[in-house]
Amino acid sequence: MNTIRGIAAAEGIAIGTAWVLPHIDAEDEQGEGAEAAAEPERQKLKLQQTLERVRQDLEKVYEQAQAKHGDGTAKIVKGQILMTKDRSWIEGMARLIEEERVSAEFAVKTKVDELIRMFESMDNAYMRERASDVRDLGNRLLMRFKGAAYGGGEPFGGPVVWVANDLPPSLTVALDPDTVQAWITETGGRTSHSSILARSLGIPAVVGAGDLRERIRTGQTLIVDGGSGVVLVDPSPALLREYEEKRRKLAESSSRLARWKDEPTATADGKRIALQANIGHADEASEASRQGAEGIGLFRSEFLFMHRDDFPAEDEQLAAYRKSVESMDGKPVTIRTLDIGGDKELPYLQVPKELNPFLGYRAIRLCLDRPRLFLTQLRAILRASHYGQVRLMLPMICAAEEIREAHRLLQQAREELEREGIAYDPYMKVGIMVETPAAALLMDQFGGMVDFVSIGTNDLVQYTMACDRMNEAVARLYQPYHPAVLRQIRYIAEQAHRHGITVSLCGEWGSEASALPLLIGLGLDAISMSASSILGIRERAASLDSEYCAQLAAAALQCASQEEVLSLLNPSKIQS
Ligand code: PEP
Ligand code: MG
Repeated sequence: MNTIRGIAAAEGIAIGTAWVLPHIDAEDEQGEGAEAAAEPERQKLKLQQTLERVRQDLEKVYEQAQAKHGDGTAKIVKGQILMTKDRSWIEGMARLIEEERVSAEFAVKTKVDELIRMFESMDNAYMRERASDVRDLGNRLLMRFKGAAYGGGEPFGGPVVWVANDLPPSLTVALDPDTVQAWITETGGRTSHSSILARSLGIPAVVGAGDLRERIRTGQTLIVDGGSGVVLVDPSPALLREYEEKRRKLAESSSRLARWKDEPTATADGKRIALQANIGHADEASEASRQGAEGIGLFRSEFLFMHRDDFPAEDEQLAAYRKSVESMDGKPVTIRTLDIGGDKELPYLQVPKELNPFLGYRAIRLCLDRPRLFLTQLRAILRASHYGQVRLMLPMICAAEEIREAHRLLQQAREELEREGIAYDPYMKVGIMVETPAAALLMDQFGGMVDFVSIGTNDLVQYTMACDRMNEAVARLYQPYHPAVLRQIRYIAEQAHRHGITVSLCGEWGSEASALPLLIGLGLDAISMSASSILGIRERAASLDSEYCAQLAAAALQCASQEEVLSLLNPSKIQS
């Protein structure tokens, strides 16, 4: 048995068969080239049949992507379908088979590699991004050569655990949670797209686990413990029994938690705190509602802009926002304006590569520079406000001018809609994310300029600790319990309340049960988290005493290190 450790990305235990997604960059197809020497005609036929089969697979993915996400996302898949019909590309592969006497697999790999290198060397970011679509298609073809579809459960006739470098776009757009029990990836962190997606779908996941394809083979049995970040390869029967028992207990606890679904969230002595959900796609709102969310505290609108080749039009955005609002049945939906940059690239945006993307041209900075792009989104959000309780949230605020300029553009959007006779909610609330120390320290000022604030600890921690949230080498410094972070949260909450506005937290940290007493004690009105964490946190809140939480927070604020704060969180220490 082999134990692999990675980053715990999404809680839950899965026991299943490994499905190692092929990676065209790996060398394992090279050796098959020579075997085919004597039979070019058979190899060319195999190539044609495989291209045809993959085209059929992609047509299905296209339909699913279109139904789920609309034309924009489906376009990526369309591009891949067109490639499977590209005559000159196919002829190039056939020539290689004839002239060099290589196998169909080898010809595909060679020509896909050439294309990837060509795209990767281009100056244009949009064209560079196409390399991952070509890689994705190459992987599909390689898989079909082995007689299986890409990512499905066919070879085993049952559910699988994906083992991949990262989740490729054409797989995630059509993901079937009944077939995919869990995934483990070589790259990524807790806040990367694959982790966020896993949590919102309730699929266990471990990410950033390094060199998986060297250590796991398709068909091996895996235990994935997404809560501790551990993967066991070919476990012993005793371990299988142990984890089956753990899985049973987890299932039991989720049926126990179901009773909290329609309860309000409050401590044992009645102090209320709202628990809301973070979502990335409009579809996730109904699942959030089923999980007892008291609203959407963060709709990351940028996912609507990703994995496509052009900006979504106003009507397309409106449809997505409206869908989320209607699913929440009158509860608030907080739509964050485009937060692109940092780890989230938008290739068609054509911005130069940056040395420090997290300190660079991202989010509100970029939107204010491109007013027409921003106005389109503001109009779509305003229009969605006609259908429910929408709140608009501005990301990455550092300066008062950014808030003023955003308000000015929002006013312009309102006036445009009015002139056009289009309905919107004139009382729609406007807030900011507090993700930078600059915004935190100026909360006495900013609190008077907005209707609510939400603390984005994913970024606030990295900017406070000068520690890139994606860089594993400095991961030990990524410390949300650090007193410097806690003091900012305290100050933000105090100043927000002085201005009579609410304060919430929407970083991933909010779903950690051990942080809850501190967060309540620091004075938050709401916490927004992955939907799958809500009921557990609600149950935990009901076991806490608000006076105890306040004392704990006061003590934590006096600590000098995260380590000291963590030792306080052991109740036997604080109460003694
Ligand atoms: C945050 O920074 O905490 C946050 C919620 O925003 P994102 O993770 O999308 O940067
Ligand atoms: Mg952020």
